Amino acid sequence: MRALLVEDDALLGDGIRAGLKLADYAVDWARDGDAARRALLDHAYDVCVLDLGLPRRDGLAVLKELRARGDRLPVLILTARDTSADKVAGLDAGADDYLTKPFDLNELQARLRALQRRAGGAASPTLAHGAVALDPATKRVTRGGAPVALSAREYALLHDLLSHKSHIRTRAQLEESLYAWGEEAESNTVEVYIHHLRKKLGADFIRTVRGLGYQLGEPG
Ligand code: CA
Repeated sequence: MRALLVEDDALLGDGIRAGLKLADYAVDWARDGDAARRALLDHAYDVCVLDLGLPRRDGLAVLKELRARGDRLPVLILTARDTSADKVAGLDAGADDYLTKPFDLNELQARLRALQRRAGGAASPTLAHGAVALDPATKRVTRGGAPVALSAREYALLHDLLSHKSHIRTRAQLEESLYAWGEEAESNTVEVYIHHLRKKLGADFIRTVRGLGYQLGEPG
């Protein structure tokens, strides 16, 4: 899962980034509105945490442009502006949720999970396919009810595949879900983690779509 954090306050941004990393997001951090705009054009994200008061370009302008081109990325606005007029403006501009500073990091994480759930069209918080289930709140993965121990990267990859169940995910998309800006992807890294997941979850759990990427296999 990859998140774009847009925040110009260094201290606050540092804290939020750490919180998002703990929630297993690969985090790109844009510190002004122009950088946010470029990032949103260049990368696919699963969620965006957007401050409103930003240098160069206001957060609302960034959000309006995103929605104007039909992008449905879940966006949570985070701001010190707490008047109801600001909240209304944010929601009307296309935000999915709203948190006023100061806020609790646990609440932010829970709200992001809810946003992702709704974006995936799932009512239940647990992602499941066949005998395999993943609970984003507890980060617990089970197979046939028995716990499966996964590394952070394996978990991120599985979460991505379960969140895009009916889609073929390209290697580039899966890499994007694993690495943030400045993190060098090792070569063959996706293949290696897919191999690990197959060993732990069953050889047919993930199928290779030759020349295209990977997809979950028939639920068995
Ligand atoms: Ca700000």
